[in-house]
Amino acid sequence: MDKTDVLIIGGSAGGPVAGITARRHYKDAKVTVIRKEKQGQVLVPCGLPYIFGTVGTPEKNIIPDALLTGNNIDFLVDEATSIDRGAKTVATASGKSIGYDKLVLAIGGLPIIIPIPGNDLENVFCAKKDVDYINALLKTLEGVKDVVIIGGGFIGLEFADELKKRGLNITIVEMLPHCLQLVFDEDFCSVAENKLRERGIGVKTKVQAEAILGKTKVEGVRLNTGEELKADLVFMCIGVRPNTELAQKAGLKIGETKGIWVDDYGRTSDEDVFAIGDCAEKKSFFTKKPSNLRLASIACNEARIVGANLFGLKRRNEGVIGSFATIIGDSGVGLAGLTEMAAKGAGFEVVTSDVKTPDKHPGSMPGATEFRVKLIFERATQQILGGQVCGGGTVGEVVNVLSALIQNRMTADAVATFQYGTHPFFTPSPIPYPIVNGAEVALGKLRN
Ligand SMILES: Cc1cc2nc3c(=O)[nH]c(=O)nc-3n(C[C@H](O)[C@H](O)[C@H](O)COP(=O)(O)OP(=O)(O)OC[C@H]3O[C@@H](n4cnc5c(N)ncnc54)[C@H](O)[C@@H]3O)c2cc1C
Repeated sequence: MDKTDVLIIGGSAGGPVAGITARRHYKDAKVTVIRKEKQGQVLVPCGLPYIFGTVGTPEKNIIPDALLTGNNIDFLVDEATSIDRGAKTVATASGKSIGYDKLVLAIGGLPIIIPIPGNDLENVFCAKKDVDYINALLKTLEGVKDVVIIGGGFIGLEFADELKKRGLNITIVEMLPHCLQLVFDEDFCSVAENKLRERGIGVKTKVQAEAILGKTKVEGVRLNTGEELKADLVFMCIGVRPNTELAQKAGLKIGETKGIWVDDYGRTSDEDVFAIGDCAEKKSFFTKKPSNLRLASIACNEARIVGANLFGLKRRNEGVIGSFATIIGDSGVGLAGLTEMAAKGAGFEVVTSDVKTPDKHPGSMPGATEFRVKLIFERATQQILGGQVCGGGTVGEVVNVLSALIQNRMTADAVATFQYGTHPFFTPSPIPYPIVNGAEVALGKLRN
C-alpha cells in the first residue's frame, strides 16, 4: 500500500490549488493528487467555450502539469473508486490502495442532462471537461449548420458566441424571461441579449425545449409552444450537479443543495476528509443560507482555505460572494455579490445607483468604451451588497475590486472615499470614477 500525508482527489481547478497551498503551509508533507485526466490533458475548465472559436484546439487550453511537479506534488492518473474512512485508504480503478492522513475531495460536478425525449440522440452534447469528448464535438461540428443551445446562462451564451465565430446558425432556448436572469438584474440581461441578437444569434426566452427530434441523429428541437427549430446539433448548457457518489458511498453527509456537506473550515462530516469546489456544499456570504453558486474562482478560494487548514484550523470560509464576468462579442458584463432582485428577495431593503462613464479618459482615447456600474447598498447598514458592470475589457478586474469592497463590508461612505489609481489608457477619469461616483449617488439617496 502507498501512503501519503495529504491525498487530493481531483486535478482541475480546486485540487491543484489545494495541493500548492498544502505545500506552502506544510512544507515537509507528502502531497499526492489523483485525477482521471491523462498527462497534459487537464483542460482549463473556463476556457472550454473558447476552444470552438478564439483558441481553436483543446491543446491550447491546458492547465500545465508543471503546476504540480514544480511544487513537489506527486500525481497519479487513476480513478478513485472508494474510500475506507476507518482504514484511511482510497482504492483506485487500477487496483491501488493509497493511505492518507488527510483527504481532500475536489471531484467537481457533472453536467445536467435534462430528461426530455431525444436527449440520447447522436449529436446531443454538453460542456464536458474531457479532451476526447471535445475533439469528437469539434469533428462533429465540421458537418453541422444549425445549433440549438438549451440554457441561456453564461456558459450557454459563451458557447453561442464562440460557435457563431464558425459561421453556424445558433439559437438559444431559455425558459426564464431573460438569459442570465439568475445572475443579473433585468436591464443588464437585456444588454447581453441585445448584443447576442446584434451578432445574429437567435434568442428565444420564456420557452422550454420539450423534445429533441430525430431518428438516430438530432434533426430539430420541439418547444413547449409547439414551434420546431431545425438543428443538426443540440448543446445542453443548464449547469452542473455536485459529483457526490464517492462521498455518499463513504457515508459522508450531503447538504441541502446536494453538495458534500462541509463546515466553515471545509471539513466534511469526517474531520480528516475535506471537500472543495463544485462537489462541495456552499453557503452565501450574505445570508449564510445554502448557495448554488459553483465557479472555478470559488473552488480555488476554498482550496486555499482547506489547504491551510489540513493540520490545524487557520482559515475560515465566510461564504460565497459570487464574482464573475463574461463577454459577448466585445462587450463584457460582470457581477460581484447580490443583484438588486436577489438582495430584495433575501429580505434586504436596498438603495442603488447606476452611473456611466467612458472606460478611458478623455473619452476620445482610442478604444474607449462606455462603462456602466450599478451598485447595491443595504439601507440599514449602508454596506455594499453587490455591483454589476458592463463595458469593455476591464469588466473582469472591476468586478474583482467590487468583490474586495463587499468582502470587507465597506459602507457607501468608505466606498466613496476608497483610494484608487487612474491612467488615461487604463481607467475612467478620476473625476467621475464610477465606483466612487456610484457610492456618492447612493449616499445622496440615503440622506434623503
Ligand atoms: C464551459 C464552462 C465555462 C466556465 N467558465 C467559468 C468562468 O469563466 N469562471 C469561473 O469561475 N468558473 C467557470 N466555470 C465553472 C468552473 O469550471 C467550475 O466551477 C470548476 O471547474 C470547478 O472546479 P473543481 O476543481 O471543483 O472541479 P472540476 O473542474 O470539475 O474538476 C474535477 C476533477 O476531479 C477529477 N475526478 C472526479 N472524480 C474522480 C475520481 N473518482 N477519481 C479521480 N479523479 C476524479 C476530474 O478528473 C477532475 O480533475 C465554467 C464551467 C464551464 C463548464
